[in-house]
This record gives sequence, C-alpha cells and structure tokens, in this order.
Amino acid sequence: MARATNISLPENPAPSVLAAEVLQALKYRIGKDATVATPYDWLTASIKVVRDRVIDRWMKGTKEAYERQEKRVYYLSLEFLIGRLMRDAFSNLGLMEAMREALSSLGVDLDRIAALEPDAALGNGGLGRLAACFMESMATVDIPAHGYGIRYANGMFRQEIQDGWQVELPETWLDHGNPWEFERRERAFEVGFGGAVESVAGPEGADERHVWHPNERVLAVAYDTPVVGWRANRVNTLRLWSGMPVDPILLDRFNAGDYVGALAESNKADTLSRVLYPADSHKEGQELRFRQEYFFSSASLQDILQRHLSQYGGLSSLPDKAAIHLNDTHPAIAVPELMRLLIDVHGMDFDQAWDVTRRTFAYTNHTLLPEALESWPVPLFERLLPRHMQIVYAINAAVLLEARTTGRFDGGQIASISLIQENGDRRVRMGNLAFIGSHSVNGVSALHTELMKETVFADLHRLYPERINNKTNGITPRRWLFQCNSGLTGLAREAIGDRFLDDIEALGDLGKLAGDAAFREKFAAVKRANKARLANLVAERLGIKVDPSALFDIQIKRIHEYKRQLLNILEAISLYDQIRSHPERDWTPRVKFFGGKAAPSYHNAKLIIKLANDVARVINGDPSVRGLLKVVFVPNYNVSAAEVMMPAADLSEQISTAGMEASGTGNMKFALNGALTIGTLDGANVEIRERVGDENIFIFGLTAEEVAERRANGYEPRAVVEASRELSQAIAAVSSGVFSPGDPSRYRDLMDGLYQHDWFMVAADFDAYAATQRAVDDVWRDSPDWYARAIRNVAHMSWFSSDRTIREYAKEIWNVPV
Ligand SMILES: *Cc1c(COP(=O)(O)O)cnc(C)c1O
Repeated sequence: MARATNISLPENPAPSVLAAEVLQALKYRIGKDATVATPYDWLTASIKVVRDRVIDRWMKGTKEAYERQEKRVYYLSLEFLIGRLMRDAFSNLGLMEAMREALSSLGVDLDRIAALEPDAALGNGGLGRLAACFMESMATVDIPAHGYGIRYANGMFRQEIQDGWQVELPETWLDHGNPWEFERRERAFEVGFGGAVESVAGPEGADERHVWHPNERVLAVAYDTPVVGWRANRVNTLRLWSGMPVDPILLDRFNAGDYVGALAESNKADTLSRVLYPADSHKEGQELRFRQEYFFSSASLQDILQRHLSQYGGLSSLPDKAAIHLNDTHPAIAVPELMRLLIDVHGMDFDQAWDVTRRTFAYTNHTLLPEALESWPVPLFERLLPRHMQIVYAINAAVLLEARTTGRFDGGQIASISLIQENGDRRVRMGNLAFIGSHSVNGVSALHTELMKETVFADLHRLYPERINNKTNGITPRRWLFQCNSGLTGLAREAIGDRFLDDIEALGDLGKLAGDAAFREKFAAVKRANKARLANLVAERLGIKVDPSALFDIQIKRIHEYKRQLLNILEAISLYDQIRSHPERDWTPRVKFFGGKAAPSYHNAKLIIKLANDVARVINGDPSVRGLLKVVFVPNYNVSAAEVMMPAADLSEQISTAGMEASGTGNMKFALNGALTIGTLDGANVEIRERVGDENIFIFGLTAEEVAERRANGYEPRAVVEASRELSQAIAAVSSGVFSPGDPSRYRDLMDGLYQHDWFMVAADFDAYAATQRAVDDVWRDSPDWYARAIRNVAHMSWFSSDRTIREYAKEIWNVPV
C-alpha cells in the first residue's frame, strides 16, 4: 500500500539515530537488551523515544503561552475516546517512515507492535471521540489548550459476543503500563464531599462568610499525556485525574491501628477513577457518577485558578485569560464550584464572582433526549455538596427574579427556567445550570441547534436570546483519513499534490477527477484493497467469508433504539425474503455489517444485538441466498475497529429517527473515506447533503418536523405496519421465532412495541427506506457512476474537518486568536 504520510520535518533524525535511541530506551528505561525484549518492550521503548522528542516542543509552547500572556482554553470532558496514540504521534511528527526503518533494522515490525498498543477507550462514543478530535485540532491550529478528564483504570468495557449475546468484560488498558503519561505527584488537589457549612459573621457591614467542612476528602493526582498537532506545530496537554487517599488521614489511621478503616478509605478514593460509566445518551443516576463529576471538575478548577493566580496575581482577569468549556452537562457542577472558590476561598463578592463565572464558561449541549438530560435529586446534592446547594439556590433566586422582572414569562415558563425541577421529586437540572452559568451555549449541528431553541431551552432562549449558537461537529482528517486510509491519501497526493495535507480545503480539487475514468479505477482499486483488509479480518476473527466485490453496507455506532439498527435488520430480513421469492432477479450482492456496544442496563439494545446475530446465522447459513446477502456483527466496536471499517465502506447507514441524533460524526468519517450515505434528514446529515450535493447522497424518510407532527397527532403504527406487506412479513417472522427457534417468544415484546407505539418511527419509515435501498442497488450496478459519486463525497467533506469547527469555537466562543 502507498506510504501516505511519510512527511518529515526538517529537523528529523535519521533512522539509524532513532534505532540507537530505541536501544538506549530499552536498556536504560526498561532494563532489557534486544535479545530478551518482548514485543511490549519494543512498543514501550518506541513510544518513549517519540515521547522524548515532543518534550521540547511541549515546553516551548507552555513557555510561550506564559511569556506572551496568551489566553488558554480548558476543555472539561468526562470522556476522551482517544484510541491508540502511537501512529497519531509518529504521523503528526513526520516520523512514521523513519521509525519503521529504524525498527526494521532491529528486526521489529512496526505494524505488529502498533497492534499491541491498548486502545484507550476513556469514552462511550461520539461525545468522547469529539473531545479527542478537538484536542488534536487545537494543537494543530495552535491554540494553547488543556483537556481535563478522569484517568479511568477501566475504560469502556470490552464486548464479546457469546451465543449471539453481548457480554461485558473489563477493559484493562493499563496492564502493561502507559508509556505516554507523566505522573505529576506534585500536582495534586484535595476534593471534599459531605459535611456541613459554617456561617461566620463578617466584620461590621460585610457579608457573612461560609466555610465548608467536608467530612470526606480525596486527593486528585494529575497524569499528563502530550497531544501532538499536525506537523508538531504545537503540543498540548491532556491532564487526567486519578483518585488517591489523602495521606495524613491514612497515616493517622494506620498509626492508630485501624488497618481496615485505612484501607477502606483508600478504596473509596480509588473508586472515583476506577470505571467509566458505560451509558451513552442514557441517564446514569448513580451517586458515584455524581461524585466523579465533582471530583474532576473541582480538581481542574483548582489547577486552573492556581495557574492563573501564579501568573496574574488576581482572579478578576480570569475571563480574559481562560476559556473553560463544558463538554455536555457532566462538568456543569463546575459552575457553582467556581463560584465557591471565588467567594469562599478567594474572597470575591457574589456579584463579581457571578460575572467572572459567566464570562469564563461556555457549554455544549449534545442531546435533546429526555432520558439523557442530567438532573440530581436535591437531597443527594445537598448531602454531598451542601455549600454548592446554597450557591445553586442563590443563583436560581437571582435568575428567576430577572425573568419575573421582564414580565414576559408566565408561571409555567418560570418553572421551566428554574434550576430546580419541582414536579415529582425535587431535582437540580444540570442543563439549566450549565446554560445559566455560561456566556455561550452551542448545539452541534444546524438542525440540533434550532431544535434546542424550540424545545429544551425554549424559555431560557427567550430570556437570553444571544446565548445559543451553532458549531457543527467535525473530525480530524489526520486520524480519519491520513492514518486510517493510507491508500486513499496516497492516491490523492499523487492526483492533486500535497497541499491538502496542510489545507484540507484543497481536497476539493479531487472533485474534477470524478469524471476521469482512469482516476475512478484507481479509486476503486484503493476501496477494494480496504475492503479486502476488512474481509480478511472478518474471516480470521469470526470465520465468516465475505466477498470484497459485494457492496459493503456498514452501520457502526452505539446500539440505541433511536439510531434504528432495528430498521436496518428488518430491511435485511425483507431482502432475504425477496431474494428467495424472486431468484430470477438481478440482485446486488451485499454484505451488511453491524457493530456497536449496548449499555449493559439497556434491555432492548442488548436484544437488538442478539437479533442481529440470530438473523446473521440464519441468512449466512441458507444456501438459497447464494451468497447474495451476508450479515456480519463485528464485536467490540471501538476507535481501532472504526479505523479499519470506515475506509472499507461503500454505504454508510445514518438512519436515526429525524430530530434525535444531535449531529453524528460517524457519518462524516464514512463520507470522507468515500462511502455514500443512506440517511434521514437528521443531525449533520442535513449539512452533509448540502455540501456533497443531493445526487451524491440517499435521503429518505420523515423529517424532524413530520416526526413531531405525527407524534402530536396520535400516530397509529398498527395501520402503517399492516399497510406494508414487506414489513408485516418481516415482523411476523421475527415475532414467531423464525430466527430464534429455540426460544420463539424471544422478540415478541420487541416486535409488539412496533405495533403499539413505535416511538422511533421504524414502521413509518420502513417502505421509504427499503425503496431507497433498491435505488442504491441500481446505482451500484452502474459502477462508474457509483465511484464518481464516491469521489465527490471525499472532495466535498473538507468542511467537516474539526480544524474548521475549532476555529469557529476560537473566534465565536473562546475569543482566542487563530
Ligand atoms: C465516531 C465514533 C463514534 C460516533 O459515531 P456516530 O455514528 O456518530 O454515533 C462512536 N464510537 C466510535 C469508536 C467512533 O469512532
């Protein structure tokens, strides 16, 4: 395959120098020589060598930011789905080929050790991956930035499929150590929980002061990972916090002979950074989750304030020198925490603290799904964070007074603005808290942002009409094109030159080659090679043989009812029926790939995984299908799997119920790698259509407006199902146990749901979806036309680079120069 990313920087060392450095690292940092080194030792040594090479740049960036008094961006996120880092760093430093040669001269294969690197899965899905792409883009466009999160000992669970069911196993990515990180024992902050608040009368005329006495304390210790931008323009820091016991307490207890108590304390501290909650777009109302959110928010803010104070001496200038970004509501507790630190610890008065806070924070909303909007019961909030509860009440009083004073809100509207939800049990609404505490609130696609104004934040939007803005998501083209698709990158360099490597807009030059037959053939050959690579993987790992010349139709993403894997599976069943009933027709050979994890507590999502596997078993084993249709469920979908599957796709499935997918970023990765999209007008699909053009995308189904209308006017799915012969047959087959003969009622409830409420409009969209799939078949058969469309997709996706997104954040939200 073409060596796509063998850019190299002028100061880069020769392979022989790197080889010597690897041997040095092996000897002095691991304590081994080449004869006894394991593949993991070679991996660690290689990473250390490259890590050493970024340190100078890392320090230079930090020093310059300090000397020039540059404003810094702080990105707070409970998730960073970074995946493997070695290729990223080698490639962005221009060291890929030199390292390959260096290792080869030592008898080590770079690809083999690269495959051993654990996939750092400190996130669930799109939200965490966005944070990772943003970190890379901020370094690339030269913004001084820190990411802040939690160093989970167990990231996203590893998924195995046993007898068709999802089984969750712990992911232990730190088993072989983590050669990327620097532990910063000296950068540690205490975080408290519980206890009581003492009110102390101020001197004559002054406000009373509040002193919080927590009854539990843990230490947050920093671990830093360098994040290298493209061509190493800048190296930023991802700082992840790990929980540790506060030593003095423990020593006292050990000294007093309380071994058990001391060890329990230590366990409690560890628990905070033990495990990532595996819930995506789902409420996770556990106390430990709330503790994790406060733990990392508090440690990050203390760190930020300490840095600011040591440089500027006071905190009134904070908004001019720091932009703190809240990635969803998970760090929303940072709003009252900053207030507490400013008022109680640093002596600022309430009004000034509130002004500083609002000018410092900005918030991104990621979902409108009611089941994903965070709120915490008032009693829990009060018990764990009594001082923050007081501050939340004080903020609420001020905002509600402001709203009432306008005279434009009735009682119901005031209640919807309130930070406290009063119906049912009383809860603190974290979305409202993040909104009210920020100067900017952004959605992640044009459609999502508009819906935000009309639904969850309608009243807050009327109160603060300037606050909501849109920043359509993006993906980094380094990982999602240059690294994962060296064939296509190499072909593009050959065809249009290297300019697009630094200016992704230049990829547009490929558009004019869509009509060039010779180029189309080369493009098809690259796609074919990527498909062969996936076919090999599937053969090796799952023992399923698929034909790389078939249409590869791929749906990989979290398993969720709104993403409608069920629609896709039902269409597969219907196609299976038709292939058998009409063997004389000219069917397009197709392989339908599925991949994705279900939240362990999400019953229907897990059942959908089982159904995909049951359907796969029946269809793949039926000789009358003659190999025209295969279904494959690829286990353990993660960033590394995505890197293999995106480049191998012909068709990208983006079929969520309109209005429910905030943006999607998987849709962008596929199109950038030359897949055509079949999708609804949802999330960023709308904007992808605008850029690639109507003829180069397959759009079907209800619009968001139509979905809302149907729901409002009493949607009756039964009639819709019965009107569709194909759909009723497919549902009947599943319901009656055709795919689960040993347990015929397995899917009855799932299918009954389609008849009874069909909240996700599977029935309403089925016929349109199936018809569009047949239109896809037609275009596929006209192969030059297909590849022309695929090439136009690649050419017109550059706008979805996360560099563009980050520049917009920088200019319109953070006010930092780019
Ligand atoms: C991009 C990505 C996602 C997001 O996919 P969507 O289709 O946008 O939901 C989730 N998981 C991984 C591993 C990804 O790389």
